[in-house]
Amino acid sequence: MKIRERIIIKGIVQGVGFRPFIHKLVKNYNLSGWVLNSNQGVEIEIEGEEEELNSFVADVREKLPPLARIEEIEVNQIPLVGYKEFSIKKSEIKEEDSFVLVSPDISICKDCLQELFNPQNKRFRYPFINCTNCGPRFTIIKDIPYDREKTTMSVFKMCPQCLSEYDNLEDRRYHAQPNACADCGPEVFLYQQKRKSVNVDPVAEVIRLLKDGQIGAIKGLGGFHLACDATNSKAVLRLRHLKNRETKPFALMSINIEKINQYCEIGKEEKEWLEDRARPIVLLKKKKDGLISSFVAPNNDYLGVMLPYTPLHYLLLKDNFLALVMTSGNFSDEPIIGDNQEALEKLDKIADFFLLYNREIFNRCDDSIVKIINNDNVFFRRARGYVPYPITLDFKLKEVLALGGELKNTISFSKGNYVFTSQYLGDLKNIETLNSFKESIDNLGKIFKTNPQIIACDLHPDYLSTKYAEEMRAKKGIKIVRIQHHYAHIVSCMAENNINDKVIGVAYDGTGYGDDGNIWGGEFLLCDLKKYSRLGHLKYYALPGGDKAVVQPWRMTYSYLYSIYGKRAREFKIDFNQRQDYNKLLIIEKMINRRINSPLTSSCGRLFDAVSSLIGVRDEVSYEGQAAMEMESICASEIEERYGFDIYKKNGEFIIGPDKIFKEIISDLKKGMNKEIIASKFHNTVADFTVNLCGKIRENTNLSKVALSGGVFQNRYLTERIISLLKRDGFQVYIQRKVPPNDGGISLGQAVVAGYR
Ligand SMILES: [Zn+2]
Ligand SMILES: [Zn+2]
Repeated sequence: MKIRERIIIKGIVQGVGFRPFIHKLVKNYNLSGWVLNSNQGVEIEIEGEEEELNSFVADVREKLPPLARIEEIEVNQIPLVGYKEFSIKKSEIKEEDSFVLVSPDISICKDCLQELFNPQNKRFRYPFINCTNCGPRFTIIKDIPYDREKTTMSVFKMCPQCLSEYDNLEDRRYHAQPNACADCGPEVFLYQQKRKSVNVDPVAEVIRLLKDGQIGAIKGLGGFHLACDATNSKAVLRLRHLKNRETKPFALMSINIEKINQYCEIGKEEKEWLEDRARPIVLLKKKKDGLISSFVAPNNDYLGVMLPYTPLHYLLLKDNFLALVMTSGNFSDEPIIGDNQEALEKLDKIADFFLLYNREIFNRCDDSIVKIINNDNVFFRRARGYVPYPITLDFKLKEVLALGGELKNTISFSKGNYVFTSQYLGDLKNIETLNSFKESIDNLGKIFKTNPQIIACDLHPDYLSTKYAEEMRAKKGIKIVRIQHHYAHIVSCMAENNINDKVIGVAYDGTGYGDDGNIWGGEFLLCDLKKYSRLGHLKYYALPGGDKAVVQPWRMTYSYLYSIYGKRAREFKIDFNQRQDYNKLLIIEKMINRRINSPLTSSCGRLFDAVSSLIGVRDEVSYEGQAAMEMESICASEIEERYGFDIYKKNGEFIIGPDKIFKEIISDLKKGMNKEIIASKFHNTVADFTVNLCGKIRENTNLSKVALSGGVFQNRYLTERIISLLKRDGFQVYIQRKVPPNDGGISLGQAVVAGYR
């Protein structure tokens, strides 16, 4: 039977070749009607036999163009009118209330790559080749609707040939907004000693300089990279000194999987993520005896590696280099640099040369980082390639701007049943990051066409984001909703898993301001989207020196030991005591006794720090989480032993007491047991007490859904063990795959709590 349907498709459907795709698809059927772009997305009216229509709609879902992404298809049957043919109608977009999703930046596609290296092609070796299916998007967009005038491509006027491709429905560059060629588009140039190098082929010269061991600042898609040959230890070490980055790993880029395979182990999932067209950095286990310099990631058995994603990367890497170091062009804790002039000024002391181009980066965006845990991805950093994809919920929210936490900050906007979480913005501790935070609020507010009257922020009174919220309240009368850090973590996990009933939330991280003014971080919460209560936590210990104890884990070790044993702790014949300055231990005792700058903490991150230092892995860190990460990397999976622990009730809350853990570790240390075994036993114990307490909570609440969140769940050994033990005990376990479990996910949780109320 013949029918007519009106189909509305929402999602990323404009500027991605969707209408030509529909037009071509219709030719496989005997259908008639039209398609157009509207404020809602793409609208189709179509007539034909019911069966044909059904399989047409199924095809639309399955055979999507590469950059398109469907969030919703609405199909309604309407009376027949008798269309004779199928056509593309003119867009019906009213600019003022237009809101459509835009695509993230996508790596160069196969077709363009083939043209890039084809001497017969007009774009042979052109570093900015792109098409409807690939290239820059989010990083060049200033406003929507997404067309060239509202991107940083607007200053380049298309030549007649590019324009004819752009206008031709049959062309694979139809409506490709960044379309360009060497005659009309952006170009690269080389700067050395503050001067533009003329009469050289910039790309060939850069390859020569890198091979020569020099360090370059290379403009990428979302910002600058600092690059050098990853097999050249002298160059890598020099980069470390100049960047003032002692041990934090550098990311690498290699031309293909075969090359990466020479120095890293690549599992099935890792390969899929490396090849994902978003091209994240994937954390891979190092192979022994690889040729990569050991200074790339000292004391770490993982390397962060990515495949090239821009044509320029391919030009640099093809037939050259096993791998290049490609680390963000910034100073520690500051945002990635995206502007040519700023790069020339700020990176001058680090870079021997600059490979620049004259297209502006509007939205700065770092590389994303993922690690495979439990056979699936976990984001360590979510940025380029994924932003601005929304998190889609089953329910609608009020419009909210959520400001996130302090470290690894992101912001989120809620709109309808979407939450847009920004790219990783960095640690909100300095003026540069604060400026980029404010800039992102403006830019993203524009792109998402939203101007919320509610701001969600953390409970912490001193966070710069909290202060910003208060400014906004004073200036614009905006309402503030303050949300506890670990509750936001758990809701973030609930939101991406579309849970809106009650869960047991386990939030393990470094630092978060608690309702009682203490520093939380080892929390068992009973949560729904409206409220939470604290059911249990790790026992409180003093954090001697506050933030100082975060960079000096030995302080935390001694806090535990002193609290458990008193002053005889400093007389133990263990390596830990030998390494410490005796007088400093006395000072720590004083600080704890007199409560001088020694807030109480239930942080799980600090427990890991303390054990890491106690067993001689790391006493001081140069980046957050380092002590725990290095301890994780020495764990041996064949160890099944564990330590004792206590769980007891105090004031109606469960307390996990780790005294036995420390006592048994000290006894193992005295026996001379090696730290690999102790580290494994410790991890096993944390998994045990976590599952044990979930069990007790289930007895009281009858809940068997457990949501895990917090930076500690980036620990693969621990997370896989907890998941498998919880599942064995019949729990349903939820973890985070869409936003990071670390503080990068906080703003999503905040937006959902504030928007749901
Ligand atoms: Zn392409
Ligand atoms: Zn052109």
